[in-house]
Amino acid sequence: MNTAQRTPTPEDLDTLSRQLGRPVRDVVEIGARCVCGNPLVATTAPRLGNGIPFPTTYYLTHPVITAAVSRLEAAGVMTEMTARLESDPELAAAYRRAHEEYLAARNEVGRRSGIGEVPEIAGVSAGGMPTRVKCLHVLVGHSLAAGPGVNPLGDEALEGIAEWWTADRCYCAGAWDVAGAAPARDLSRHTRTQGLPADELAAKKARRSGGKESSDAADADAADAVDPRTPGAAGGVES
Ligand SMILES: [Zn+2]
Repeated sequence: MNTAQRTPTPEDLDTLSRQLGRPVRDVVEIGARCVCGNPLVATTAPRLGNGIPFPTTYYLTHPVITAAVSRLEAAGVMTEMTARLESDPELAAAYRRAHEEYLAARNEVGRRSGIGEVPEIAGVSAGGMPTRVKCLHVLVGHSLAAGPGVNPLGDEALEGIAEWWTADRCYCAGAWDVAGAAPARDLSRHTRTQGLPADELAAKKARRSGGKESSDAADADAADAVDPRTPGAAGGVES
C-alpha cells in the first residue's frame, strides 16, 4: 500500500477499536485493508509508547479473519506446518526468508514512524518464525501486509480460510458492533470470558463483584492477557 493508504485516519482507529472491542494504542499504520477500505491488519510500533519493545508488528484485527484462522489453529494446522518445516528444506528456506522480510519490514515501520531501531528485538520476529509455527494469526497478518509470495505458511493459511474469507470480497457487514461510541476504555476482560463454561463464568462474575479494588486488578490482568502490544502476551488472537 502507498503512504496515504497506510496512514491511519481517526475513522480507521475507531474501526480498529470496534473490531477488537477495546481502544487501540501504538498503531502507526494500517497493514492491510478490505476491498471496502476498512482495516484488516493494524501495524503496531516496534516500541510502544511506554518504551517497551514490541516484536509483533502486524496484528490481524478483522473479526471474520481472526475467527477463521482460529478454526485452522483448532484443527491442528500449526503442528502439521511445523512438522513440514522439519522435513521440507525448501519450505524451511522460504519460511526463513519470510522471517528476514518481517524483520526488514519492521525496521521500515520503525524508520517511517520515527521510532528508529529497537535493538532489544533485533533478529526476533513473531509467530514462531523462523523455525516453528506458533501463531497463524501472526503469519496471516504478515501475508496480508506483505502480499502473496512472501510468507509461504501465511499464504497457505489464507488459502485454508477461503471458505470463510477471501481478499476479493467485503465481509465487514455485521462483523463488529457499529452502534454507539467506539470502546474508549479497555473492555478486553470480556474477551477473556469467551468460551468459559457457565459455572466458571459465574464464579468469575462473583469474584469481580467483590469490591472495586479487586475488579480493577482483574481489568489489568485481562488487558495483559489479550493486549497484542504487551510483549510476551500469549492470549487473545495471537495464541
Ligand atoms: Zn469491508
